[in-house]
Amino acid sequence: RQVTNPTTNIIFNFSISSSALTIKSSSTRAAANSGKFISPITSIAPLKPYLLSEWKSILCGWLCSVLSVYSLSKIVPKVGKFSSLMNPLDVLRLREECLVLGGLFFVRLVGNYLQQAFLWEAALNCVYKMRVCVFHKVLQRDLGFFEGENGIAAGDVAYRITAEASDVADTVYSLLNTIVPSSLQLSAMAVQMLVINPVLSLLSALVIPLMGFVIGYLGERLRDVSNKAHLAAASLSSYLNEILPSILFVKANNAESCERKKFQSLAFADLSATMGKKKLKSFIPQLVQAIYFGTLLTFSAGTLLVSKGSIDCSAMVSFVTSLVLLISPIQDVGKAYNELKQGEPAIQRLFSLTTFEPEEIVNPDAVDLDCVAGEVKYSNVSFRYGDNGPLVLKNMDLHIKSGEIVALCGPSGGGKTTLVKLLLRLYDPLQGSIFIDGLDIRGIQIESLRRNIGLVSQDTTLFSGSVAENIGYRDRMAGIDMERVKLAARTASAEEFIEALPLSYETNVGPRGSIFSGGQKQRIAIARALYQDPSILILDEATSALDSKAELLVRQALQHLMQNRTVLVIAHRLETVLMAERVFLLEDGYLQEVPRSSLLDSQSGSLALMSLTI
Ligand code: ADP
Ligand code: MG
Repeated sequence: RQVTNPTTNIIFNFSISSSALTIKSSSTRAAANSGKFISPITSIAPLKPYLLSEWKSILCGWLCSVLSVYSLSKIVPKVGKFSSLMNPLDVLRLREECLVLGGLFFVRLVGNYLQQAFLWEAALNCVYKMRVCVFHKVLQRDLGFFEGENGIAAGDVAYRITAEASDVADTVYSLLNTIVPSSLQLSAMAVQMLVINPVLSLLSALVIPLMGFVIGYLGERLRDVSNKAHLAAASLSSYLNEILPSILFVKANNAESCERKKFQSLAFADLSATMGKKKLKSFIPQLVQAIYFGTLLTFSAGTLLVSKGSIDCSAMVSFVTSLVLLISPIQDVGKAYNELKQGEPAIQRLFSLTTFEPEEIVNPDAVDLDCVAGEVKYSNVSFRYGDNGPLVLKNMDLHIKSGEIVALCGPSGGGKTTLVKLLLRLYDPLQGSIFIDGLDIRGIQIESLRRNIGLVSQDTTLFSGSVAENIGYRDRMAGIDMERVKLAARTASAEEFIEALPLSYETNVGPRGSIFSGGQKQRIAIARALYQDPSILILDEATSALDSKAELLVRQALQHLMQNRTVLVIAHRLETVLMAERVFLLEDGYLQEVPRSSLLDSQSGSLALMSLTI
């Protein structure tokens, strides 16, 4: 289903839901559990279903790693054997051994390549599925998640779904590559060493607890610094997302140098945090390696054993080879643990977008209204944003009959747009109910509710894409009917300027419709509502950006649009307000009817309206 920002002119078009939903405002935030130990099992728990769905690639990768480790385990004794083939008479056998060794190396390389290819495929597929799922959930979140003082910044969400999801891919790969391949190599080498000489092997194992401690302790530190780096990068992304679309405003206010400084400070915070992360990440493997060099002590013990004759030279060479080959899987295990700690904040922040209180409670009795007559009734409705905000609507009653045109005016901030948001169920009232055709909207499937309501809102939003795609937004998946698009554009007085464009209806409107003026955008938005043909139409200051001539044209267009449907028009201009049969004033959350007769005389009417709306 598609959910759109209500402050835009997008017409709501939902396609999934099968029952009505109850919305509850919540704005869960990702909180990094700084300093608190989280077990690896807990931190990867959200990844489980995705990993399971990729079991085939994972299994293939692991089988290839078995092949690769098997060939390695054959290589090690062969390397040992070389030391016993120094006799010139053994040249033939040496050549034979070289060929076998070459073959084993080849198998190892192919096995390694296939193992990595399969495991990367699994990790990237997991992240692709996660992204799709997270975005789907983000679209399902209630409006309170995006708006208000605790609203999440679009750039933050974008950063989580793009960059942080890529970090999760690295973590997933690293884990998959460690769980079986590195552990296998580690066990194979350890077994070889134990078989050759248990005493030397146990001596080498003395460094393991120290390594475990270092990796574990520094892993927790790494998680904390990674979390800082993620937050800093997300702030940078949010800032850019906010400032770049407002570049006109920045330039008009000569704010370039101020914004450059702000960017610099955010970029510097990101630099410091990322630097800390990278340094620690580079330091850990070196420390692990340094500890591993402690195993060199076993060389002296081994030399002693060789000199005493208790172990032969080729066994010692095999032992040392195994010891050297053990360092890479040990490092892999350490790296995977660190990768997990580093990825933990990314996993948490990504999935915090999906794990929210059930905002949508399935109402099994919700009805699917195919078509509504359009009677709208607000009954004793009160509403506030958040838990402690001031009441925006207070015990409000409003009854709009089917097919009636009602105008709503009042000072800005009076609650007019809020009233619209409640009708669309972007929020639920604190108290009271709203009815459409006598049915409480909580008992109507959200999808069908929004399908029947067309909104032309205050802030017009157009998307990159052609003019036709913007007007036929509702049908862009099913196929846009060009005849209807043209008819809608003509009725909304938009045809003339659209046809003057280089590619007419196929012209790209640019980012956020930047090729159009505010008034042109509004006419495109009205055309979009005409295309949707809803039973209930809401015009929320839809003509505010138009000049008087364009407004007159659009008003004529609206006359067409208003026929045979219920219309709620929020406006300030007397001429627009007078198109309505009844006029209401919404002030301080209270609604009262204004006698239309008091507005009819255009001179005193304008004055009366001014006093109502200022
Ligand atoms: P109008 O459309 O009449 O100009 P609104 O309905 O947009 O007014 O806003 C009514 C009041 O609610 C205003 O005081 C505004 O500051 C507040 N408000 C609007 N949206 C939010 C929000 N998402 N979170 C908190 N307060 C809000
Ligand atoms: Mg408003």
